[in-house]
Amino acid sequence: MNSANNQTKKTPSELMLPDANGFFGPYGGQAVPPHLKAIMDDIAKAYLEIRETQAYQQELMELYQHYVGRPSPIYFARRLTEACGGAKIYLKREDLNHTGAHKINHALGEALLAKHMGKTKVLAETGAGQHGVAMATACALVGLPCEIHMGAIDVAKEHPNVTKMKILGARLISVETGTRTLKDAVDSAFEEYMKDPDNFFYAIGSVVGPHPFPMMVRDFQSIIGREARQQFPAQTGKLPDYVVACVGGGSNAMGLFSGFMDDEAVKLVGVEPSGRGLGKGEHAATLTYGKPGTMHGFHSYMLQDEQGEPEPVYSIASGLDYPSVGPHHSYLKDLGRAEYHAVDDTACLDAFMKLSRLEGIIPALESAHAVAWAMQEARRLGPDASVLINLSGRGDKDADFVAEKLGL
Ligand SMILES: *Cc1c(COP(=O)(O)O)cnc(C)c1O
Repeated sequence: MNSANNQTKKTPSELMLPDANGFFGPYGGQAVPPHLKAIMDDIAKAYLEIRETQAYQQELMELYQHYVGRPSPIYFARRLTEACGGAKIYLKREDLNHTGAHKINHALGEALLAKHMGKTKVLAETGAGQHGVAMATACALVGLPCEIHMGAIDVAKEHPNVTKMKILGARLISVETGTRTLKDAVDSAFEEYMKDPDNFFYAIGSVVGPHPFPMMVRDFQSIIGREARQQFPAQTGKLPDYVVACVGGGSNAMGLFSGFMDDEAVKLVGVEPSGRGLGKGEHAATLTYGKPGTMHGFHSYMLQDEQGEPEPVYSIASGLDYPSVGPHHSYLKDLGRAEYHAVDDTACLDAFMKLSRLEGIIPALESAHAVAWAMQEARRLGPDASVLINLSGRGDKDADFVAEKLGL
């Protein structure tokens, strides 16, 4: 808001570009030691060069088409729309991508970049295993060694993903230190990375971390928005009134939003998890309840304690339980270009079941948050309005958990 004055000069598409230091307004940047900053600058330079080459763009586009199965369709959810009694609800089907979610879009971009930069190993941490599987897939495809660090507790909990990563040829490091969860996996992967950052590539799994990752991952995911911006008017004769996506780190939302940034009549809505309630450690609604701070190498809204340390977070959808959020989202929130709302576990489970039983589509619990917001608002928006939801992933991974939780 302190940047409101210089904002008036910016065109909507200029909102897409961070400045030379990787800031979107006051958010983002490179809050890392000088040695690491130099490496991040190298990656930014390589990316900006490679991005302009025909060979790289063509390779990525061909993979999107023939490997991922893009473009993903837009589907009118007729029965869900009828059940909600208001706005027409459409789904952008990222759940139909190879590996079942949007993450493959940036995993391929990062793996190709690592390969073009001559890196010898790709490193990543993973919580529930979704980012790990996507990176293991992309590394198998481009032929790069891949090492995934995962907390021992998550290794035990997320067995199908662990097995997949092994089959795909990734080296899996089970982290036995600390709380043996994602936080420790990050530390462990980072420690390995710092042994040889010139030759290793640390693949970040969302639009977070130091510059250039928020910009780069956003660019890779922007294929979602570019497709949707073409598909939706071709199918319905007009633009959607609302585009909606769940927000963990914020990559699938940024991907969809970026296609509609210049369409000021199109409202951009991000949906965060309010989990079990608003107590400490009960939710992960960073933009809704957090405040600006710095962690993990960048400045953004975050959930933090008095010492500025990240607070514990929780969501029924493990892909959404992150205590910060991509800096570009923080900027869009302050400018009022995007709005952010929170949806709790109960509404999420209800949306998960409704979409399954009315449309035969089992969504990821993450994506079900976006569906839940549309279901809640459909009547208020009215039958003339249309809502396009990014269905970021499929729910196979969540099926057993939900069935047990609901006693099915
Ligand atoms: C990881 C994940 C998310 C959350 O990540 P974003 O960066 O916020 O998109 C959402 N949906 C699915 C299916 C995921 O796997």
